[in-house]
Amino acid sequence: MIEIDKYIDYLESPELRLAIKVQTKLISLIRQFLIEVGFQEILPVIISPVTDPLTDYRVRGEVECYGFKYQITKSMIFHKQLALRTFPKIFCFSPNVRIETIERQNSGKHLIEFVQVDLEVREATREEIIELGEKLFAWVIEKIKKQALEELQLLKRNLPEFKPPFKRVSYQQALDSFGPDFEAKLSSELQGPAWLIDFPIEEREFYDRQNDNQSGFLVDMDLIYPEGFGEALSGGEREYNSERIKERMLRKGIDLKAYDLYLTFVSQGLFQSAGFGFGLERLTKFVCGLNDITKTRLFAKKPGIYSL
Ligand code: ASP
Ligand code: MG
Repeated sequence: MIEIDKYIDYLESPELRLAIKVQTKLISLIRQFLIEVGFQEILPVIISPVTDPLTDYRVRGEVECYGFKYQITKSMIFHKQLALRTFPKIFCFSPNVRIETIERQNSGKHLIEFVQVDLEVREATREEIIELGEKLFAWVIEKIKKQALEELQLLKRNLPEFKPPFKRVSYQQALDSFGPDFEAKLSSELQGPAWLIDFPIEEREFYDRQNDNQSGFLVDMDLIYPEGFGEALSGGEREYNSERIKERMLRKGIDLKAYDLYLTFVSQGLFQSAGFGFGLERLTKFVCGLNDITKTRLFAKKPGIYSL
C-alpha cells in the first residue's frame, strides 16, 4: 500500500525539488547540443506491437485495445532503426518501462519507469558514437556547473571537469580485475567516466553487432560513471543483416514469431547504424551526487514496490 504521509513528504522534499530543477536544465542542454550537431528530435513511442527483448522478451508490460496486443516500450531500439529512413540522425527523450527483478529493488539505480535519451545515427561506427557521447557528456557537465550553480551548492555537489578522450576498459579486462560483479567495483575506482567495451555476445541483445575481427564479441559499449555511480549509457553498432539477426535471435532462444513484424521490416533493408540510450534519471543522480534514484524524478517506481 502507498503510505500517504510518507508520499507527501517525498513530494515536498527539498532534495527532490533541487534535483528536478537541475534535470530541467540538463534536458535543455542535451537537446541544445544534439540539435546543434544535426540531430532531429522525434516523439516517444509508448506502445507498439514490438519492443526491445532486454534480458527476457516474454517479461513485458502489455495493453490490449481494439482486440490488438501492444507492448509497453522497454526501449525504442527498433523504432530508432526505422526512423533512420526519415532522418539520418535522430534522438528522443524516451520513456521506458522495464519490469526489473525484485533483487534490484534497493540497488539505488533501478526504476521500472524511466526516461532515456535514445539516439541513433545512420552509417555511424562505434568510434564516432563514443566521440559524440564524450563530447555531449563533457559539454553538459561544463554547462550545468554554471547554469545550476545554486542548486549544486545547496546539494553540496562539487563536479570536476571531465576531458575526453575517456579511458577504455574491455569487458574481459574488467572481469579479470574485479570478478563477475565488476560494474560497481570498477565504477568506484574510476577517477573519471570510462567506456566499457567489447561485451561477449551472450551478455547483450541480438541487435548489437558482432565484431568481424573478434568472433563472440560485440562492437558495443557502456559508459560507466566514476564514484560508484555505475552505468550511464549502453549502445553499440547494430546488426542489420536479416540472416544474422535471425541467427542471433535463435541463439538467444527467441521465438522468431514474436518478432515477425520487425523481421518483415528488416527484410526490406535496415541502415547500418550505431547509437546509445543514456539514462536521464541516472545522469541527474550523478550530477546532483544523490544516493538514491527515487530522488531524481516525481512518481519514481522501484521494482516490486507499489507506487504512484
Ligand atoms: N536499447 C539499449 C537499451 O535501452 C540502448 C541502445 O543500445 O541504444 O539499453
Ligand atoms: Mg544497459
